[in-house]
Amino acid sequence: MEITWLGTAGFIIKSKEGEIAFDPFLSRGNGQASPFSVKSFENSQAVFVGHGHFDHVYDIPQIASGTEVKIYAPGLTGQILKLRGVPSSRLVEASNKEILFKPFKMRAFHSAHTRFDMPLILSTAKRCGVHGCAHALKLGVSYPKGLVQTYYFEMQGKKFLFVSSAGCTEKELMMYQKLEVDYFLAPLQGHSHIQEIAAKQVSIVKPKVVIPHHHDDFYPPLSQNISVDIFREKLKQMSFAGDVLEIPLFKSAQI
Ligand SMILES: [Zn+2]
Repeated sequence: MEITWLGTAGFIIKSKEGEIAFDPFLSRGNGQASPFSVKSFENSQAVFVGHGHFDHVYDIPQIASGTEVKIYAPGLTGQILKLRGVPSSRLVEASNKEILFKPFKMRAFHSAHTRFDMPLILSTAKRCGVHGCAHALKLGVSYPKGLVQTYYFEMQGKKFLFVSSAGCTEKELMMYQKLEVDYFLAPLQGHSHIQEIAAKQVSIVKPKVVIPHHHDDFYPPLSQNISVDIFREKLKQMSFAGDVLEIPLFKSAQI
């Protein structure tokens, strides 16, 4: 099985049973250019969308038009993707009431977004300046977050949890703990203490392996690199017994 980190919250995961993707964001503005393109998804059967922010959905209409892939998105985000040109025949409502994609026993759970804290907002505003702030505001209006969902799936007997934003409630995390997750794909973005927040979530879910994502400088100056070393330290402080698998930007890992 191979897992490729596309940057931000984007992944392509391949196994003998098939290939799926999550939250692909390839445009990256002034960020390091992505080596991936629409062609990278030609063997993917499904793209799952965590929430509607631009860094999770911006490139999906183009990916849909150049491939046969099905797009699984929560309510409002699906409607917006339709307005942006994804044909209805390719859109599937990512309902949390049923198995979404049978080969991988894919399920979606209601989740929540991190609340941007004041120190993060102020430091981001300082980096962006007036022009950058106006641009960020426009992106926020054009790409509302909508419903935030976490996805659980199984591949080759391994259990995965994909979280698109680290706003999970304690109740939700306790439920994920019961699922006995092998791989937890944990986002490190959206709060000035995100490493501590994410480490706490990981220590509740207790996966065998945590794979950090979204910590790259995906759209500067709006974004910045987040230290995975600090995340490791926090995990250690919380006595996390599992492993950290850090996939370098745009690289793959065999798992
Ligand atoms: Zn977001």
